[in-house]
Amino acid sequence: MRYKCMTELNSVLEKALSFERINDEELLCLLEEKEKGQDIIRIAGIKNQKINSNTVSFVVNRNINFTNICSLNCRFCGYKRTKKSKDAFLLDYDKILEKISEGKKIGIDEICVTGGINPELKPDYYFSLIKTARDNFPDLHIHAFSPQEIYELSKATNKSYKDVILKLVDMGLNSMPGTAAEILAKETRSKICPEKINTDVWVEIIKTAHKSGVKTSATILFGHIESNIDIVYHLSLIRQIQDETNGFTEFITLPFISYKTSLRKKVDSTLMQDKIFKFYAILRLYLDNFKNIQTSWPKIGIPAALKSLECGVNDFGGTLMEENITKSAGGEFGEYLPEDEIVSLIKKSGKFPLRRDTLYNYIYEKTYENRY
Ligand code: SF4
Repeated sequence: MRYKCMTELNSVLEKALSFERINDEELLCLLEEKEKGQDIIRIAGIKNQKINSNTVSFVVNRNINFTNICSLNCRFCGYKRTKKSKDAFLLDYDKILEKISEGKKIGIDEICVTGGINPELKPDYYFSLIKTARDNFPDLHIHAFSPQEIYELSKATNKSYKDVILKLVDMGLNSMPGTAAEILAKETRSKICPEKINTDVWVEIIKTAHKSGVKTSATILFGHIESNIDIVYHLSLIRQIQDETNGFTEFITLPFISYKTSLRKKVDSTLMQDKIFKFYAILRLYLDNFKNIQTSWPKIGIPAALKSLECGVNDFGGTLMEENITKSAGGEFGEYLPEDEIVSLIKKSGKFPLRRDTLYNYIYEKTYENRY
């Protein structure tokens, strides 16, 4: 795929602001623009204001990573361990229930459950994990298992993706993370995660989930060795899927944390802070079928996450409680932000905090004035 940037930046910005769809060539122009990043950010802020007013949503949730033992070798990953590693772990259900109970004490609405691709885990571990969580916490939203995990379950059970997803729903699954997307441009994907499911399989599983009534997030791993053309390919594909299924709840950028990964030497991660704000803005302008663009405070830090709220972002993500994946790659911005702190940070930035559930139903909306 080759594009040439022939379009005037101002006309692209005008189009985006008047809710006219910008095309892939224009997306590339925005990505390649070096001088007028502030204009892109300003227009994205105005567009976000038109869509979401002054609100910033967040979810009270807890991450549960059930194992860090993984047979794959993604080059951007600092999380995986072999079975023999001293700090390898696999949680049993008692431990998982204990973690959910801890989360319930702070009022979580959601658990987000993912793990490494642990070759010793039988399919029943996954199905029973969901059922055990559901039986013990009937009103909890269970957001679990990436397309990679669905693929592994399909392979191990010899069932279709659809049958696997429907069985998980039967056990109590509510929605899935759209992770394992990394970068969907095929050549670069094969360089950074050659053993992962390929782009076509990722797309097929995501569409199957959406068409089976299971919503997912959409993600990108940003700031590694991807080119602007790769980003165009990725975002274009995501936008097409959303047009077809309307099954994505939000778009989440996962900035690459390089410190403890094998891709480290190839990437100058000090550039991240410069690039990330313009990237959030471009997402707001290009992804016209997404209401929700989420920041990532564990990866970029709280001051940068607050600044992103001026760049087209309208969602602060979750309280998390435990964020092993970023921490293992060298992330240093913490693993837990209490609800009150998120509310206070959003208010200090001049925005209106809205607590939501995983599917972006706003909670306590009517009593907001009293509550906050
Ligand atoms: S990113 Fe996930 S699948 Fe890849 S090596 Fe790390 S834990 Fe394994």
